[in-house]
Amino acid sequence: MGKLDGKVILMTGAASGLGQAAAVYAAEEGARLSLVDLNAEALEETQNLVKEKNSNADVLLITADVSDEAAVKNYVDQTVEEFGRIDGFFNNAGIEGKQNLTQDYGIDEFRKVIDINLNGVFFGMKYVLEVMKEQGSGTIVNTASVGGIRGVGNQSGYSASKHGVVGLTRNSAVEYGEYGISVNAIAPGAIMTAMVEGSLRQMGGENWEEAGKEFVSVNPMKRFGKPEEVAALVSFLLSQESEFINGTVIPIDGGQSYKY
Ligand code: NAD
Repeated sequence: MGKLDGKVILMTGAASGLGQAAAVYAAEEGARLSLVDLNAEALEETQNLVKEKNSNADVLLITADVSDEAAVKNYVDQTVEEFGRIDGFFNNAGIEGKQNLTQDYGIDEFRKVIDINLNGVFFGMKYVLEVMKEQGSGTIVNTASVGGIRGVGNQSGYSASKHGVVGLTRNSAVEYGEYGISVNAIAPGAIMTAMVEGSLRQMGGENWEEAGKEFVSVNPMKRFGKPEEVAALVSFLLSQESEFINGTVIPIDGGQSYKY
């Protein structure tokens, strides 16, 4: 028996990084998956990786932009049509945005990051919580960030959006606990994915790998996290084993957030 045997798990941002790793991990734990992303081609790649681990896994792929409310309603409707319910939701899609001082950040960039990282998470919660309340059960894991619990610098939009995700998490946890629903967030530090490579390229250009070494030199564990480590935490939070954990924000960062 896997931790997520037979459970219907919906995930956004499933075509890359943390979402892709979480999809593969959840499939190994027996989940039936509804996988959402903007990038249809890369979603197929996730499906291939899932099938390598569990050839019997049920997988539904949906291309959608999480910042578009109608598209979010549609991915939730399609998931319920296909599987009849939603047991777990990894509300994860997000972007980093450009790094800049607050005075230079620019309203267009700010709006774009908020639209995807905060509005996208809010829309997902709205439509999934409706389904879960009707069922009388469910678990939601929102992806915040260390940037959602600490000041990191040069990331006005990202930081505002991720602090917002933490607020949404705590607010809904209080509202929906009585319906058998838990809502938690994870706060990853630097986990080596396409997003972090992009971030290091913004800092170090061609020398991004050097910038990476310098970045992790101040981490208590002196390394980047691995997407699989985050996937294991997500799987635990989506499972029955963590049923009484509600409204928390769990850092997964090697201890780095204590040094900010
Ligand atoms: P990633 O770039 O590897 O993956 C993000 C995925 O989200 C991509 O597949 C992308 O196509 C998808 N996406 C982006 N905008 C979308 C939209 N509007 N609609 C639908 N899908 C969209 O990044 P990642 O590192 O896996 O990041 C996943 C989440 O984790 C993000 O919310 C990010 O902020 C958060 N996070 C990551 C780290 C890290 O170190 N990697 C740290 C803290 C938080």
